[in-house]
Amino acid sequence: MMATFKNLPTNFTISKDGGYAVLSVPIEKSDNDDRSYRLIRLSNELEALLIHDAKTDKSSAALEVHVGSLSDPDNLQGLAHYCEHLLFLGTEKYPKENEYKDYLSKHSGRSNAFTSADCTNYYFEVGPEFLEGALDRFSQFFVAPLFDPSCVDREIHAVDSEYKKNLQLDGRRMHQLERSLSNPNHPYSRFSTGNLETLKENPIKQGLNIRDELLKFHDKYYSANIMKLVVLGKESLDQLSQWIIEKFSAVKNKSIPIPTYDDNPLTENELSNQVFIKPVKDIRTLNMRFSFPDQRPLFHAKPTYYLSHLIGHEGVGSLLTLLKKKGWANYLRAGYNGYIGFGFYSISIDLTESGLVNYEDVVVHVFQYIEMLRQVGTQEWIYHEVKKIQEISFRFQEKSIPSRYTSSLSHNMKFPCPREWILSISLFRKFDPQLISESLDLLRHDNFVLRLVSQSFNELDQREKWYGTEYKAEPLSDKVIQALKNITTHSDLTLPIPNEFIPSNFETNKSEISMPAKRPDIIKNTQISRLWYKKDDTFWVPKANICLMFKSPLAYTTPIHHVKTELYTELVKDALNECLYNAEITGLGYDLYYQNQGLVLIVNGYNDKLSILLEKVVIKMKNLKIDPERFSLIKERIQRKYKNSLLNPPNQQTTYYLDYLTNEKIWTNEEKLEALENIKYEDIEIFYPELLSHLFIESLIHGNILKDDAIKISQKVEEILQPKALITSQLIGLRSVLIPKGKKFIYQRNVFDSNNINSAIEYYIQIGDLMNKELRTKSSLTAQIANEPFFSQLRTKEQLGYLVNSGIKSQVGSLGFKLKIQSERNTIHLENRIEDFLNKLQTIIENMSEQEYQKQIQSLIVKKLEKPKNLTQESFRYWGDIISGYYDFEQVDTDVEELRKITKQDLLKFYKTFINPNSPVYKKLSVHLRSQKSNKTKLNGGVVNEEENEVIIEELELKDYNEIINDMVLWKSHMILGPSVTPFSNI
Ligand SMILES: [Zn+2]
Repeated sequence: MMATFKNLPTNFTISKDGGYAVLSVPIEKSDNDDRSYRLIRLSNELEALLIHDAKTDKSSAALEVHVGSLSDPDNLQGLAHYCEHLLFLGTEKYPKENEYKDYLSKHSGRSNAFTSADCTNYYFEVGPEFLEGALDRFSQFFVAPLFDPSCVDREIHAVDSEYKKNLQLDGRRMHQLERSLSNPNHPYSRFSTGNLETLKENPIKQGLNIRDELLKFHDKYYSANIMKLVVLGKESLDQLSQWIIEKFSAVKNKSIPIPTYDDNPLTENELSNQVFIKPVKDIRTLNMRFSFPDQRPLFHAKPTYYLSHLIGHEGVGSLLTLLKKKGWANYLRAGYNGYIGFGFYSISIDLTESGLVNYEDVVVHVFQYIEMLRQVGTQEWIYHEVKKIQEISFRFQEKSIPSRYTSSLSHNMKFPCPREWILSISLFRKFDPQLISESLDLLRHDNFVLRLVSQSFNELDQREKWYGTEYKAEPLSDKVIQALKNITTHSDLTLPIPNEFIPSNFETNKSEISMPAKRPDIIKNTQISRLWYKKDDTFWVPKANICLMFKSPLAYTTPIHHVKTELYTELVKDALNECLYNAEITGLGYDLYYQNQGLVLIVNGYNDKLSILLEKVVIKMKNLKIDPERFSLIKERIQRKYKNSLLNPPNQQTTYYLDYLTNEKIWTNEEKLEALENIKYEDIEIFYPELLSHLFIESLIHGNILKDDAIKISQKVEEILQPKALITSQLIGLRSVLIPKGKKFIYQRNVFDSNNINSAIEYYIQIGDLMNKELRTKSSLTAQIANEPFFSQLRTKEQLGYLVNSGIKSQVGSLGFKLKIQSERNTIHLENRIEDFLNKLQTIIENMSEQEYQKQIQSLIVKKLEKPKNLTQESFRYWGDIISGYYDFEQVDTDVEELRKITKQDLLKFYKTFINPNSPVYKKLSVHLRSQKSNKTKLNGGVVNEEENEVIIEELELKDYNEIINDMVLWKSHMILGPSVTPFSNI
């Protein structure tokens, strides 16, 4: 076959067999990248990046179409998103609606997609032997989708449920409000998700056939010349090229221009306004959004990076430091985001109560900082610092999850850069002070919209159409405009000092290792501490992770102890922020947080300067001086956090209550709020030395650090803290609640947020001890088999809601299987539908052929054997095994061996005993969160499905065998507890 190639960019030549055009110059890649790449163009102008990774244990592909919700027809808002949903549900070649997901599920895979304003991205991951089959199914999305009328009809409910899931989420509300308040003639002002109104009711009123419109949309925009494909596999580049030609050449090239939008959605009418907005949660933010041109063409100089580095800086002389000193702010973020043809530059500040009162002065300080930047002019040394950090990060870039990599590459391929730079788009190529000062000039007083978010705003006279967000918009005050017109600098605001944390020693002493070690070893074990250590023998990057757990029973004894521990960790981090910000931006990070066993400190990044960072944090932990003003601001922030967690979505609340019911001791948010009330900063000053006085320090050092240095690091920590030993019985961990055999409990409560229309259920079946390998492997095999049919039955077919999933729940001494749904339906209906599914699942297993059954086992084994993709993933795997207290580092191997032995008969026997609701030993605990706004339920127990004008009778009776939990504490007090953690082997 001799294809013809039109519109070839420079440096492309035709392949020997004439099948494709190929980029003939090498693609620039990280020194640390052992994969090989080839960029090709098919005769239909589809550009595809092929990645050969001989070692990968997952293959993946992603395709991005350069069209998104901005291209929705005016009268069909949400069409691009709806089209994305339907491509998954059958194509001409593979008409079965769950074929794609079913294939992936049986071969260790998964998939997802997203629709943004100017693009739609699809991706999947699959076991490496099954890439071709997955590609064949995937490619048909873009060649000949079915848009089966029955799916079109049903899937609208998934889109509608997705919209309703987001109704009470502030992030979504703010995003849509921002869009709704932009120029009404710009497509950006429209509603991007879509719902029943825009995609079903309106089209019916207008006499439109939605399926025809979907076909038209796909036919118009799904054109090969605006698609970017990335495929990653074990196969050779030649093999991958051949598959791509075979499967993607049939994608039609309609030679369409990329839909582009040259006007900015913020025009004179919108700029210079201030908008007051009421959130659902108790948050307070100030956002300044500047109209900006598309920055993509400036990839070589990245002028907005330079600005964000400075405006967002948190070190000495920064804007945030000044705002914190005044007691007005907690956090600050600055950055650009944009779409094809237009963009925005945003500065967002998390305000304190007094910051909100003084918001106009906050704006003035922002402009004083900008004025300072203008006066000092563009500094080449700062550009080089930012450039250097980016270069180091690229040089030592590690692998990530394959589908994340392919999806982000297919997204980045849109950049109008020379094709050999598509992997290195993050690098700076040119210092261009002119471009930087042009960007700085756009940060003008008449080029932004001010948005303020707070629950304290009253008399807001307007409501956003799609989410009902209350707001009021008015011009900026004359006072602030005058102040901005006559802006001067502020003596506190200066450029940052040079960054001393940029690493310079990258030696890894790489050597050939035939068998990397499977676990860390103990290299120190005393009354005070235990140190697990592994020198990196796999990734050879100049990085390390140091994880420390400071165990103390004092951290969790009462809600007051818990809250004090949390306040203490927040105060330490707050006190370190200014001096450690420079470390953070060079890729040296740390986190300090509390757990019920004590405090956890994680330090990670380039090992060169890692121990300096660790030392600074531990010294601060030991010698914290508490600033009373910062204390009261942080206390207020934590109070809001607890209050806000009551407003979390119902599907998160079910998990919270299930955890509460099944763990020996958890303090509720209400209890913590009450405890917080009377705590003063002096209490923390007394508390934390006591907390640190007796500790057991369990730690892991993994990475490019030598054994002697690891021991020195651990000694240094002990020298600084000087703790005394705990007695052994103080180290006994908390235990789990065991549900008695044959008991079926239900806990019901209302969703706290009275405006949330969603209910949720988490249905938990307790099976047995986590350390019983037979039960553990059979449970995960059941979860593996259940996953796809549960989704396909309850979401795709029954359309109960957008969020439908199932999986394993493991706790100390117990293990179970859980099924979750968030839905507008009554939770009793959901409960009964889950039990119906559990009966069906048994039949599915019974009817499964031996070959199908073996596929499921193999699919699970491949998933279990998946290796960590980078150093941090490996570290966290070990750390998880360490903090669990089981130290069962080789569990995967044990489980894989066990899985190979399980016959279908064994599994069925297990299923009938533990999972089937009719079994006499079945143990259930189901948590129902009921919406207070159940507008669909009628008194007679029937449900009116308004949009279809028919009455569906829901079963709204619970089965007799269920027992209702009325009082959680009383219930727990009657339950037996399982064993505490005992190490898997002697340590
Ligand atoms: Zn969606």
